[in-house]
Amino acid sequence: MIKLDIGRVPDGHSHYDIEADASELGLCLEDGHLESPVSLSLDVDRRGGDVFIRGMVGARAVLGCSRCLKEYSLELETSLELWCIVGGESDGADEEDRENVVRVSAGAMFVDLADPVRSELLVLLPLKPLCDEGCKGLCPGCGIDLNVSSCSCGSDDHDNRWDALKKIK
Ligand SMILES: [Zn+2]
Ligand SMILES: [Zn+2]
Repeated sequence: MIKLDIGRVPDGHSHYDIEADASELGLCLEDGHLESPVSLSLDVDRRGGDVFIRGMVGARAVLGCSRCLKEYSLELETSLELWCIVGGESDGADEEDRENVVRVSAGAMFVDLADPVRSELLVLLPLKPLCDEGCKGLCPGCGIDLNVSSCSCGSDDHDNRWDALKKIK
């Protein structure tokens, strides 16, 4: 749970900086993890039970490169925008058109931002993580990391040379 103290948010404008433990997001990465903290910088505008929250989310993911298997870190930064409706009725007539609406009961002290934050961060995570666009990966012959050294596998092999030429084109 990433808590925003909704019970104490005053009418009008206020600002909140929240640092949350990455585990609160319940985000399972196939090959990596999120580092803590996940930071939120939020501008909150409240009018009665109608609370508009917008701001930035920052986090860092440690991922395994899908070519060379090395771990690398990726900075994630995204914006977050959501409406929080406290206690049923909102006076916004256009409520149905709003995206990202979170409803909490009138007496609630906290609103949980974990779900919206998680979905914003998920969009930023690559399906095929690469430490670098030009990562050369591991040699399929000997397994050496071709980014740091070279090997003699296939150096006498004409087919491999032609492959390399084809890539240049
Ligand atoms: Zn790599
Ligand atoms: Zn090799």
